Amino acid sequence: MMLWTHLSFALVIGLFVIKNISFSGNPITLLAFILLGGFFPDIDCATALVGTPFKFINMFLRHRGFFHSIVSGTAVTIIVFLLTGNSYYALGFLLGFMSHLFLDSTTKRGISFFWPSKIRMRGKLKTGRLPDWLLFFMFVIISVLMWF
Ligand SMILES: [Zn+2]
Repeated sequence: MMLWTHLSFALVIGLFVIKNISFSGNPITLLAFILLGGFFPDIDCATALVGTPFKFINMFLRHRGFFHSIVSGTAVTIIVFLLTGNSYYALGFLLGFMSHLFLDSTTKRGISFFWPSKIRMRGKLKTGRLPDWLLFFMFVIISVLMWF
């Protein structure tokens, strides 16, 4: 899926969380961690906007492998918790991360959710095609409606 689809989907989830779930911490910071988790997995993609500064990762790990798995999601969530000391921010990051994996698992290329297992979770969509854009516009509309 496109970066914008991931971000808009994470925004829908984030707005739902900060409006409906009580937590300790700043709502904007929690929303930022959900959005961060929403695009973080694509640091393994040398051609993605997010992955460009981290091209060296592509020398060791392929796109939609380790960084698109529950293993890396758990590891990075623990790091976020250690850095922030706030379990809500860490869980927010994990929520955004899982939203990214969910969307990518609907594409033909799929993801290695259970990395290092070679089993791939995949669907029928193609990144950047009409359904991707339709999802993006739908999530933007939902976000705007949720904002007010
Ligand atoms: Zn991805």
